[in-house]
Amino acid sequence: MDTPRKDLVGLSREELAAEMALIGEKPFRTKQLWHWIYHQGETDFLNMTTLARPLREKLAEAYVVSRPAVSRLQHSEDGTRKWLLRFEDGNEAETVYIPEEDRGAVCLSSQVGCTLTCKFCHTGTQLLVRNLTSAEIVGQFMTARDSYGEWPSPTDEGRMISNIVLMGMGEPLFNWDNVSTAVKIITDGEGIAVSRRRITLSTAGVVPMIRRCGAELGINLAISLHAVTDSVRDSIMPINKKYPLAELMRACRDYPGLNNARRITFEYVMLKGINDSPADCRELLRLIEGIPAKFNLIPFNPWPGSAYECSDHGVVKRFSDMLFEAGYSAPIRQPRGRDILAACGQLRSESERVKCSRLKERVAAGIADDHNPG
Ligand code: SAH
Repeated sequence: MDTPRKDLVGLSREELAAEMALIGEKPFRTKQLWHWIYHQGETDFLNMTTLARPLREKLAEAYVVSRPAVSRLQHSEDGTRKWLLRFEDGNEAETVYIPEEDRGAVCLSSQVGCTLTCKFCHTGTQLLVRNLTSAEIVGQFMTARDSYGEWPSPTDEGRMISNIVLMGMGEPLFNWDNVSTAVKIITDGEGIAVSRRRITLSTAGVVPMIRRCGAELGINLAISLHAVTDSVRDSIMPINKKYPLAELMRACRDYPGLNNARRITFEYVMLKGINDSPADCRELLRLIEGIPAKFNLIPFNPWPGSAYECSDHGVVKRFSDMLFEAGYSAPIRQPRGRDILAACGQLRSESERVKCSRLKERVAAGIADDHNPG
């Protein structure tokens, strides 16, 4: 039987160079291939016209430049698009594109499912199936670009897909190796070349990984804060029991590269009667004192079976005004793509984990708070 051809997408530059060495090609081939794959967006070796024909054929025999398969593409009435992508092993994850006037952000998933089990989040009802590979993370971005025809890589100004948020399914800091490789590929100036300043990674607060994110990737950080006391945060975000607020705030204060132009975004989902009082807001201001910060107030997006309600509009507005009066930017995030369950916290795929070993790891890590074998 033929051995499956190896995917070149998702390899770091060093790994791609090693692959070229393996088939007896000179190092400069790496640069050429990189250009074709990530600048031109070419998936067919035979079209890589700067390579001699025998080399194109040799590459086509041993390798592929893959894309995830699109299981379903949905369009929201507000222009948001959501892809359900299917990977080689049949697992699925979602990617969302949120357009604005003359640009837009693509929201990438980092895992199939999630270990965090945040009570208000739809993805949290799906247990972790597995980490996405770097190929699958970069592949989500490339799929979005394919659908907007944004190849070769446009200049910074002309891009529809101008920003990236790692805010889809999963906890990116629990999949550090693959997420960081993917970010390095996406920011490489000779390929996709999205600036680090246009990439934001959102974490529920994996404290030990936060510093590395700033030091090694230099991308923007968003924290899913959502509560200002340990007791409330413990009850809605189990990860807080492992990394409580004081530690999380310390990691934020120490995030490399912060200044007034480069602030941490604190995301705050507005849950009626739970975290939305003026006293909560005052405590929030006290917590973040001294941190270059901005806020993103997220009206809670319901999903089938969710137990929470969104705070009333007036309450959200008052919360936003209080932060604004204290000198902070605190926009209320306009829910996008709700009609196709593409808004924050609504993503989920039907992929289910079958192995029990992972669950044991989760229990050992103190993250799982149930024994549902999924
Ligand atoms: N695990 C990472 C990445 C996911 S980002 C993190 O927690 O930051 C997804 C964002 O949507 C998070 O801020 C999450 O808390 C928020 N969210 C989850 N469920 C939501 C819901 N039902 N309504 C609004 N926002 C939600």
